[in-house]
Amino acid sequence: MSALDVAGYAERLDAYLQERSEEARAVRVGEKEASEQAAIVARYADLFTREQLAVLHEREDAVTGDAVEEIARLRLTCQEGLVDRELAEREDALENALLAARVPWDGEELPLRSAQARLAVEPAYADRDTLGRAVLEASASFNDERRALLAARNELETEITGIADPVARNESEKAVALRPILDAVATARVESTPAFTLQRERWLEQLLGPEREETPLSVHVPWIRRLSPLEATYTKERCVPICLATLHALGFDLESEQGIRPDLEDRPQKSPRACVIAADPPRVVHLITRAQGGLHDYEAFLHEAGHALHYAGCDPGLPLAFRRLARDHALTEIYSFLLDSISSEPGWHAEHFGLSDEGARENADAARFSNTLLFRRYSAKLGYEIDFWTRFPSDGGTPEGYEERLTAATGIRYPASSHLSDMDAGFYSADYLRAWVRAAQLRAHLRRAVGEDWWRRPETGATLRELFREGTRPTSEEIAARIGFDPLDTAPLVAELVAR
Ligand SMILES: [Zn+2]
Repeated sequence: MSALDVAGYAERLDAYLQERSEEARAVRVGEKEASEQAAIVARYADLFTREQLAVLHEREDAVTGDAVEEIARLRLTCQEGLVDRELAEREDALENALLAARVPWDGEELPLRSAQARLAVEPAYADRDTLGRAVLEASASFNDERRALLAARNELETEITGIADPVARNESEKAVALRPILDAVATARVESTPAFTLQRERWLEQLLGPEREETPLSVHVPWIRRLSPLEATYTKERCVPICLATLHALGFDLESEQGIRPDLEDRPQKSPRACVIAADPPRVVHLITRAQGGLHDYEAFLHEAGHALHYAGCDPGLPLAFRRLARDHALTEIYSFLLDSISSEPGWHAEHFGLSDEGARENADAARFSNTLLFRRYSAKLGYEIDFWTRFPSDGGTPEGYEERLTAATGIRYPASSHLSDMDAGFYSADYLRAWVRAAQLRAHLRRAVGEDWWRRPETGATLRELFREGTRPTSEEIAARIGFDPLDTAPLVAELVAR
């Protein structure tokens, strides 16, 4: 097949993305046992060829105005698909090997994935520690293959883009500079360290108990994030009704919202991880959740609802590039971060869970601690990843600095052997951090424009709907300008991090 022109390409890409989305959904919710993505990819192989990429490049150079960005996003999708196609077999082999890996536990052999999931629910500190160490060891045995795959991807991307420096290449893809983001969030982290240290002492004592080590191993983080000791208040049964009521107060009726297809049932075949699959935004956006119990379920539901409302809220007249494609995830994460941060509002806990003011403040503080821990971890991780990739062309990737940076930022020991399993593709950490900064700016804006109780006011929903209409088109930095902030202004974030 010969290469398609822009309109034809967008149309065929749209069909391809819809098929892949529906396949992913069917597997995710347990309607299908085996994933047949490979067959879809094979059927649409013509979308991801060097010839097609050259055509898109040529058209991108020939147009002006909005069309440049529209074609650039198609071109970037083509480019990524081309690299994925060449590496798919090896990446699947690694994924399957990870699925087949076993961890010895209690006289049994647990699948590695089940052992990782169990770390969030295993109640005894010593047991988690032992199981966690076995998990780390099993996972680290795949590091050589992980590193080899990173090298292969780096080589392919260098060849296709002509940019040899991995950091510069990612900056050109995101159209944003990474080091100024790192500087801003690292400064915010340092400024809020004294507040974090106090919070950390208090919550580690409550969540991990007196037998914990001074610097606990990272394997305890899933347990900390789940806030398991608060489970009795945040039951699995109340998760859906309370989250729907929370969204309703903002002016969103999730179950009748155009385009959103909620699947909120608890069925054993469903994956427990909440997710959004924007198959054909704004017309078809799947929101899939399955509550397991604990405050973290509520946060995950609200987080995914933020993505779903964003995708389902876009103007249906926008082209595919601005409904569905993006250079990165920094924009959509603003809205999910904003909604999941409602769990840090004491008033929300008092209103929905019948807690005293004191109890509500306490539990909101637990949610804040868990989220602050994550922010600090990601800010350290971005610093490590920038160094890792800056050195990569000369040293091929080393753990140097990983353990030191992450442990110093969190007070939790992240062992050097995790440096590759913990690496997200394409500096996703930077997208999250931009969203962290922006969501804090947006909350500051809403507190001023709507009120301290922005989290239960329909005016908040109205503000969001305006932003959602633009789909995936604006950058995260453009949203800063709309609400009157400099993109790297971390004052609102620091104010929240140090608030008592
Ligand atoms: Zn998200």
